[in-house]
Amino acid sequence: MASAVEQFFTVKAKIATAEREAGRKAGAVTLVVVSKTFSAADIRPVIEAGQRVFGENRVQEAQAKWPVLKEDFPDIELHLIGPLQSNKAKEAVALFDVIETVDREKIAAELAKEIARQGRSPKVYVQVNTGSEPQKAGIEPREAVAFVARCRSVHGLAIEGLMCIPPADENPGPHFALLEKLSTKAGVEKLSMGMSGDYETAIAFGATSVRVGSAIFGSR
Ligand SMILES: *Cc1c(COP(=O)(O)O)cnc(C)c1O
Repeated sequence: MASAVEQFFTVKAKIATAEREAGRKAGAVTLVVVSKTFSAADIRPVIEAGQRVFGENRVQEAQAKWPVLKEDFPDIELHLIGPLQSNKAKEAVALFDVIETVDREKIAAELAKEIARQGRSPKVYVQVNTGSEPQKAGIEPREAVAFVARCRSVHGLAIEGLMCIPPADENPGPHFALLEKLSTKAGVEKLSMGMSGDYETAIAFGATSVRVGSAIFGSR
């Protein structure tokens, strides 16, 4: 199999093609390289190839590998893309630059408290459970617009984006379209949607960032 660095350049090229085909501006889409389960030694060559934006889905795993990498490469932007427990809000605010998975009042309140306490302000997105799957995190689509408004008015969080993970066994297009529609209603600019199997589709539906892991690092 090709190396992670080779795959990284392949994905970058495919993103550029998808932007062009969708009539989007070159560079409109940010690649978030998802490095969960891979070690700092696996990740470092991709950073050295020029990548700076990464995603992890567990706070504890990220704490074990990213502080050293961030010290070596201060312009790294780290995204939390997995569920956040309220007892990890402190660690999450300290380490992450974007938290994509706010989906309930308690998390919003804890984040707001930590942001005020630490004087550090990660960007915040709301996760939407577009397929209303019982086992999946995210706010219900019909509650999303009001939840974004409450995050802003009650908790003072500057919500910048929405994020979704469509059901694995469905055509993702309608889910991406739904997230895009909700972002307009909620007045947020960023759309985090699309993974290894469907990032080109997500770009056609307006993704501003795509989260790609296995297409770069191989299967987990
Ligand atoms: C693991 C993960 C990804 C990356 O998935 P791949 O299919 O490996 O690209 C994207 N988003 C979230 C939320 C994830 O947990």
